[in-house]
This record gives sequence, structure tokens and C-alpha cells, in this order.
Amino acid sequence: MLYVGCHLSASGGNLEMVRTAQSIGANTFAFFTRNPRGSKAKPEDLEDCARAMEALKDASFGPLVAHGAYTMNLCTLEPDARAFAAGVLADDLRRMAALPGNYYNFHPGSHVGQGTDTGISQIVDALKKAMAPGYPVTVLLETMAGKGSEIGGRFEELKAIIDGVGSEHVGVCLDSCHVHDGGYDIVNDLDGVLAEFDRIIGLDRLKALHLNDSKNPFESHKDRHELLGQGSLGVGAFRGIVNHPVLKKLPMILETPNELPGYAREIQLLRDLEK
Ligand code: FE
Ligand code: FE
Ligand code: ZN
Repeated sequence: MLYVGCHLSASGGNLEMVRTAQSIGANTFAFFTRNPRGSKAKPEDLEDCARAMEALKDASFGPLVAHGAYTMNLCTLEPDARAFAAGVLADDLRRMAALPGNYYNFHPGSHVGQGTDTGISQIVDALKKAMAPGYPVTVLLETMAGKGSEIGGRFEELKAIIDGVGSEHVGVCLDSCHVHDGGYDIVNDLDGVLAEFDRIIGLDRLKALHLNDSKNPFESHKDRHELLGQGSLGVGAFRGIVNHPVLKKLPMILETPNELPGYAREIQLLRDLEK
């Protein structure tokens, strides 16, 4: 049984997201830990977290993949803004401890002209400060399309962050649209891309997938998501993913341009693609 789900609105709380997920045939989901384009977070509701954890267990869900705000740039230029972003990360990780065993994924950041090495060291610093020893949630770095000065468009950059932090609780979330736009050919050579991932990062660090088709061609470095099968990846790419012995065990999150009925159809599509 695949673990498939989509991004859900967190406005009604965690338990409501579990129920919504079940209503569309999902058995995992993603949600923004705070306003995705701002920084505001809702007050914590630990009772809701506990009830949601119980419901997830009862319904045999796979791990959830929470998503940090897009605006959180750990390697932005201005020191005060960078410190603010690091504080947001620390607060998100502290809150995620109420949902142990699940994942927290975020975009590593954009170095805005400081250079890749400086950006990576700033990201590493923020993660080291935010992750207390024995921290119960695994943090996932998302593979990026390499748009502008984005860090994470190359597997080597993610590996440098992982090595810099030096914790077993750092992994990777592979986004199908991003890696394709970034120049990794998962359409024609999924095994080759995964072999490269394994050689550079190690497949044991691969913990989750974002499944999106792409509006743009291979290696475009653009990052515009498309409905499954309607972009430059095509249905075959997703058939390959859901039947791959390593990938089929990971939580798969749709971030396609959909409302709930469209997500329900794509969840079913992925289940039907599994042989
Ligand atoms: Fe993302
Ligand atoms: Fe993504
Ligand atoms: Zn994207």
C-alpha cells in the first residue's frame, strides 16, 4: 500500500487534516507549519496534536511531511532577517516535537549573491542551533530546481548541508518537478538519477517525495508545478516512481494545482499506476 497524500489546509487543526485526508483516499499529507508566504503561526494546540497522533496510528498513516514557510530563508543577506529566519526554524522544530516520528521539510534557502559555500554554512549554523540533541523529528532538505541563487539544486549541495550538521536526523525530500527542472532525468533514467543520489548523498537519507509534473522542459530551472501527466514528465515518470522498490515505501505528497476533488483523482491515479 502506497503512502499518498497532498497538501492540506492546516486552519482547522491536525485532527481535521487527518479526517480530510481520509475522505480523499490519502494516508499521508503535508501542511504548512505557518503562513507559507509570511511567518505567522497559529497558537499551539497540544491536545489536537495528541488526538491527531492517535488517529494517524488507528488509520495506519505513513509519516506526515510538514512544510516550512517559503519566506524562511536561512541564508538571506541581511543579518537581522537571517536571525529571524533561524528563529522561525527553531520555533517550527520545537512545535513539531508534538508530532513525533513525522517529517519537517523546507527549502534550504537562496544565497542571494553571497555564494553557495557561504549560503550552505549559514543553513548549517541555523540547523545546528535549532536541532537539540535527541531531537525527535527528522528534518528534510528539499531538492530544488536551481532557480536564481537557490541552494539544493545539486545533490552535492544537500550533501554538504547534511555533513555540516552531522545529525542522523537530517534527510532529503525529492521533488519530481524540481529535480527534473534542475537537470536530473527521472523521465528517461530514474535508476541513473537514484544511483547518483546514492553515490553522493546515500539513499538511506531519502525520506519523502513531492510528486508534481512540470510546466517547463527538462533542465529549465523554473519550478512551476503541473497536474500529473499533463506536463513534461508525463504519466510514465510517475508509474516508474510508484513501482520503484526504494521509492514506493516513501510518503508521496502531491503539490499539483488542485482542489480536494482533483487531489482525490490524482491519489487514485497513483494507486492505479502501482502494479
Ligand atoms: Fe517545497
Ligand atoms: Fe515541493
Ligand atoms: Zn516547487
